[in-house]
Amino acid sequence: MALIVQKYGGTSVGDTNRIKNVALRCLAAQEAGHDVVVVVSAMSGETNRLLKLVAQITDRPDEREQDVVVATGEQVSIGLVAMAIQAQQGKATSFLGHQVRIVTDSTFSKARIKSIDAQPIRAALAKGHIVVVAGFQGVDEEGNVTTLGRGGSDTTAVAVAAALQADACEIYTDVDGVYTTDPNMVPAARKLDRITYEEMLELASVGAKVLQIRSVEFAMKYKVPLWVKSSFTDDPGTLVCEEDKSMEDVLVRGVAYDRNEAKITVCGVPDVPGIAAKIFGPLDEKAIVVDLIVQNPSKDGRTDLTFTVGKADFLKAQDVVKAAMKEIGAVGVETDDDIAKVSIVGVGMRNHSGVAARMFKALSSEGINIQMISTSEIKVSCVVAAKYTELAVRALHTAFGLDQPMPPAGATAVSETAALKGEKV
Ligand code: ASP
Ligand code: MG
Repeated sequence: MALIVQKYGGTSVGDTNRIKNVALRCLAAQEAGHDVVVVVSAMSGETNRLLKLVAQITDRPDEREQDVVVATGEQVSIGLVAMAIQAQQGKATSFLGHQVRIVTDSTFSKARIKSIDAQPIRAALAKGHIVVVAGFQGVDEEGNVTTLGRGGSDTTAVAVAAALQADACEIYTDVDGVYTTDPNMVPAARKLDRITYEEMLELASVGAKVLQIRSVEFAMKYKVPLWVKSSFTDDPGTLVCEEDKSMEDVLVRGVAYDRNEAKITVCGVPDVPGIAAKIFGPLDEKAIVVDLIVQNPSKDGRTDLTFTVGKADFLKAQDVVKAAMKEIGAVGVETDDDIAKVSIVGVGMRNHSGVAARMFKALSSEGINIQMISTSEIKVSCVVAAKYTELAVRALHTAFGLDQPMPPAGATAVSETAALKGEKV
């Protein structure tokens, strides 16, 4: 007998028929002899609907109050799922975040989980119940409602799995696994059987929306085997797991894009020590996550500093930068939210050279100008004009051989290495 945490996303609980289908799936897992904990998101579109209501009131919402509003979506779906299970003669109990003490910090709208009290869940499981936990929401030390950021139910599921030391965490969604890229954009995209935590982390962080990034961090830290599966099929899905030798043979596992960032350039910044800290310190104090940063070589003692933030933080970040401008003696601020970031990710990059060069070549042969570049050990990202997103993703998918099936696990992709000869970054 295993302890399984299943998570169902918004589309999987999108209407009452789908909720009945979720109930049947939970019951089937229980009938197979498992203890079942199910974490659910709000019904599809609900969180967006709630955020729209907020936006009709103000464009700079108090985030505590916003969380009070958006956390309600999950309360509806857990109650409905629990009742759907009961309607099939099953036993089920729903829990809100605070009822299982999903304690978070107080960073409203993107709170981090600190601890979970597994006891109420274990007690309900011991009575033969399927436990239905609200995703996305928590409670801070003062008892305020918090939420974990968009897509946060994934993180709830993995955190619950870690707290319970579950045997597996299954994330059910509307796609049947993790793909080499967005299959809606690139028909040649293929489903991966396995992907490493690290690759998934990079793909999630660069905009592949299949899993929330913090859920993957959690899974990696606590070594929770994470399955991404469809709630509409019986396909085995994709396993997110620890790396093994054969996984390094593939140069690029996936291509991702993100149209959710915006670019801010602080112009004419004096090129003296401490300036970057004066810009990024206040951004950090406001919990604004800065992604790419590029500083131009200075001319006449002044330089331009460009960085990207999430579109949701764009206005707030501009306010912060404008407030800091006087103090740092910058000349002006330029902004652009018509950008996209395209990225290639693969653990194979560690042992192969020429990957970035091949990426730049693929983009330039489509006439796409690169505005910013950033790299990590297993990732290269380029910021381009938003209108080129699709073209860039397709070109990269083809350039790195992802249109073709991957070599089977254990096979060596000799051709991939050979094709890179002579290209050095
Ligand atoms: N309902 C939340 C959202 O739409 C959380 C989730 O779906 O995971 O972002
Ligand atoms: Mg989701």
